[in-house]
Amino acid sequence: MLTAPPLTDFMATDPFSADSDAQWRIGADGLFVDAAQEEAFVRAEWPSLGPRVRQIGLYGSLAFLFATFTDLAVLGATWVYWSLLTARFAILAWGIGLARLGKAGHVEHVRRVATLLFGFELSIMVLFLLVVLAYGGSADYHSITALALIFAGYAYVPILRREALWVGGVFTTLFAVVVWTSLHFDAKFVSIAAVLFGFANLAGWQIAVSLSRSMRLAWLDRQRLQREARAAEEARRHAEQSEENLERLFDATPMPLVLARLSDSRVLRYNAAAKTLIDPANRLSDDIVTTNFYADPAQRAQLLARLQLEGAVRQMEVRLKTVEGPPVDVLVSTRRVRFAGEDCVVTGMVEISAQKNLEHQLRALAYTDPLTGLQNRRGFFAAVERAIQDAPAGSQGPCVLLLDLDHFKQINDRHGHPVGDEVLVEFAQVVLSLLRDGDVFARMGGEEFCILLSHTRAAQALEIAERVREFVAAHPFHTSAGVVRLSLSLGIAGCDAPIQSIDSVLSMADQAMYRAKQGGRNRSEMYCA
Ligand code: GH3
Ligand code: MG
Ligand code: MG
Repeated sequence: MLTAPPLTDFMATDPFSADSDAQWRIGADGLFVDAAQEEAFVRAEWPSLGPRVRQIGLYGSLAFLFATFTDLAVLGATWVYWSLLTARFAILAWGIGLARLGKAGHVEHVRRVATLLFGFELSIMVLFLLVVLAYGGSADYHSITALALIFAGYAYVPILRREALWVGGVFTTLFAVVVWTSLHFDAKFVSIAAVLFGFANLAGWQIAVSLSRSMRLAWLDRQRLQREARAAEEARRHAEQSEENLERLFDATPMPLVLARLSDSRVLRYNAAAKTLIDPANRLSDDIVTTNFYADPAQRAQLLARLQLEGAVRQMEVRLKTVEGPPVDVLVSTRRVRFAGEDCVVTGMVEISAQKNLEHQLRALAYTDPLTGLQNRRGFFAAVERAIQDAPAGSQGPCVLLLDLDHFKQINDRHGHPVGDEVLVEFAQVVLSLLRDGDVFARMGGEEFCILLSHTRAAQALEIAERVREFVAAHPFHTSAGVVRLSLSLGIAGCDAPIQSIDSVLSMADQAMYRAKQGGRNRSEMYCA
């Protein structure tokens, strides 16, 4: 006997997963050609086949048992009757056995059920022929029961074994032999009986085959539908899963990411890192537009223009406003994308505020004189350049005053270098206090300084130079070595005519200053060509 695999195993291995329907071939007898496939079908359809087998076993055998009353009436309580009754009880036992197997629980005995059902059918027909022989008499009476048996055999017995199809034909032949040899029959009715039996077999065959075939086709269809539904469900789950993964990935990315619609700059999505950067206190509602976050709207316009032109922008420096916090400097990389059928931009950011602060500090250091805290030569050059650029066309150029302390070497020589330093620091503060806010005062090196006076005429510049000179000359410089007196010489240049270059104006101021030194020091000289 075949030991079938447990039901769960069978269900787990989908018989259709790799095969196409074409491989499930149904033969001319309405059964699957392949025995294993046939078995798979019976197993799967057992919930509907099982009860049928059960009913056939019970009702068939009971009906056969009840015919015992006819036996008694015809035969009387003879030994033949008792033998037939025993046989009828045997058939009942067989039927009960079938009924028990027909319960859903017995699905694992598919082949056994098929064989037992086939045997049941066969035994009833053989016993019927024995009853006919025992009764004897006219063929007419028996023919009706025989016809009913043939129909029942074809129509009501689910065809689980293809041999069951031949039972009707074999039975008809044996019945004909029995009639011919042992019964009375009227020759007139033989031809009619032949037609009726032929029809019963033909129609029964057709019914059995088409019933079997349609059951199997319907099952295949159901399987296919289930398979398709499973595949659709699987695909849906897969899509859902990958969308969920993507969302999780987007949110978990440590780099701030923002997805915004291009048409109205509305933010469709942003991740946790973006929230931490822009809105750490969680003050924003969901209705956000990117426009509000650019500290400098010109930067946004520039970014959009580049995006329009190139489709993507890499690492552009942008300053962003934050909610309830100081602005942040970020490197923005952005790209156009289609999202949910709309034109969008996805933007990644790297915060560089710390680097920018450091950059500012370094720049300040590079432009500052460490001793006096004034701007150094580089800072002064940058300031003059800015002043030249910013000056309206045709306006008088900014004036440059070059200051050189007189006989400073003697202060160092007399009091020491540190005292000289003290004088330089105090000198810087004194002069700074005499200047306006927009003026630039720088230490060019050693004991040489420069003043840049914006929008100033020559007369005014001379006046300022004299004021500074007189103030310094009168000022007592309090040092660790006591009070030190100091004077300075000034050269003035660049006023009243547009400045061509820094070098040229400095050179002019230097020439004027030289004349001041030549003229006896502690004086101011205006450059004249
Ligand atoms: P003059 O009137 O011709 O300008 O005479 P001077 O002595 O000021 O000019 P000179 O160029 O001969 O000397 C400049 C001196 O300034 C020389 C140097 O010792 C001094 N000096 C330059 N830088 C510093 C500094 O950072 N600290 C101190 N204490 N002295 C400095
Ligand atoms: Mg000097
Ligand atoms: Mg000097």
